[in-house]
Amino acid sequence: MTHYDLAIIGSGSGNSLITPYWDGRKVALIDGGVFGGTCLNVGCIPTKMFVFPAELATGAREARRLGIELELRGVQWRAIRDRIFSRIDAISRDGRQYRADELENVTLYEDYVRFTGAKSFVTGAGEEIHADQVVIAAGSRALLPDIPGITLPQVHTSDTIMRLDELPKRILIIGGGYIAAEFAHIFGAFGSAVTLVNRSGGLLRSLDDTVSEAFTAEAARQWEVVLDHTVASLTSNDDGSVHAVLDGAQGRELDVDVVLVAVGRVPNTDRLAAAAAGLDLEADGRLVVDGFQRVLRNGSPVDGLWALGDVSNRFQLKHVANHEARIVSHNLTHPEDLRASDHRFVPAAVFTHPQVAVVGLTEAEALAKAEAEGFEVTVAVQQYGSTAFGWAMEDTTGFVKLIANQHTGTILGAHIMGHEASMIIQPVIQGMSFGLDAQTMATGQYWIHPALTEVVENALLSLKTG
Ligand code: NDP
Repeated sequence: MTHYDLAIIGSGSGNSLITPYWDGRKVALIDGGVFGGTCLNVGCIPTKMFVFPAELATGAREARRLGIELELRGVQWRAIRDRIFSRIDAISRDGRQYRADELENVTLYEDYVRFTGAKSFVTGAGEEIHADQVVIAAGSRALLPDIPGITLPQVHTSDTIMRLDELPKRILIIGGGYIAAEFAHIFGAFGSAVTLVNRSGGLLRSLDDTVSEAFTAEAARQWEVVLDHTVASLTSNDDGSVHAVLDGAQGRELDVDVVLVAVGRVPNTDRLAAAAAGLDLEADGRLVVDGFQRVLRNGSPVDGLWALGDVSNRFQLKHVANHEARIVSHNLTHPEDLRASDHRFVPAAVFTHPQVAVVGLTEAEALAKAEAEGFEVTVAVQQYGSTAFGWAMEDTTGFVKLIANQHTGTILGAHIMGHEASMIIQPVIQGMSFGLDAQTMATGQYWIHPALTEVVENALLSLKTG
């Protein structure tokens, strides 16, 4: 059995834990997948590199209503793809090389491991490893529903869809969450005919109802959206296309060139045999951790066993994994002064069209909290089109919805759909994080006129607090 001071499972956010403190100490870094993890290789970063040109292509279409006649004459899919992955693959390759070859104290295992005890595990190749401290940062993977034909080569997940050789003429997207919404935007903007099939009656259903309803309506204007349906089967046609049979009231059938499955992601705890090692799991398979990111076994934290990111939190967001990595990095080296992670105001953005950004409670969650705790809730919805910049854009769909405690003005949630929602939400995240009430936030600072942030200012002023 090989012994290490620190073993890290997962080279995504886990990779950032190898700080100079560990120079001269033995560190094992283990990853059976591509070096750098989901965000870098198949997630946030490459998708946004596709979203940006998709926005430009969409702009060409939308400019017409402002009197500008732009023509989208072509999309060089391969050139876009190769530009993106020549950059991404180089970062992954260089990161791997640094860890594998240049740091003497670090051993890189490119293999999957299974736990044999709380802080010991075995690689697929049979090497047994034990460490004083172990960090599980093993992430999550795309869930594949049990559909006949799901293993056809034309069926992709977010792991492979961005590497297609050709832009598909027709794409079927199964799912209606973050990933489905982002890829519908990318492929739709580039000219593919997109059919999106979602199980429930609304897209982005985990978000506030106002956002989900508005986004579902906007999505139906851009793509063929089939709600309340699932896919019953997928079969390959003689010409290489895929025949999909839908399950639902309409019982539709359609032929497409490729299929993208985006029905959620599962934590990689099964691959780690975490349950067999006695580690506590949530109902959805995530590791149970305490506030200091210590992994629990039989309800108690295991000394020196930590977890971070998708394998243990419900957010499945890179900025949360990064935050937790900073906490674990500190706690690994300061056992007498443990820090807790802060999950109070976790924002998220969906880089679809229109963009969506959220932080805090939905209106339904806020009302439930208010009833339980005995306070009143106030809600304001401000249209982008009510501000000068909204006029400039001739915007008819964007809005900012704010939810606050009526008595104190404390902001409980913000839900934005529209141009650059991911940016204009930031002052609200800041206000919530630093405990500003709506009135102070609205009136205690300048808001640039006529910037789009005025829609946030006006939403704050519209809240009936006090
Ligand atoms: P989500 O959990 O966001 O959404 C899953 C969707 O699939 C839901 O709409 C669900 O329907 C639907 N669904 C489930 N099963 C079926 C089925 N059999 N047939 C049809 N539809 C089905 O999952 P994603 O895969 O989109 O994303 C996973 C996570 O990745 C997200 O939660 C997010 O945290 C993260 N992510 C973050 C991004 C960002 O920050 N920008 C971008 C991409 C991903 P129903 O409405 O019934 O629930």
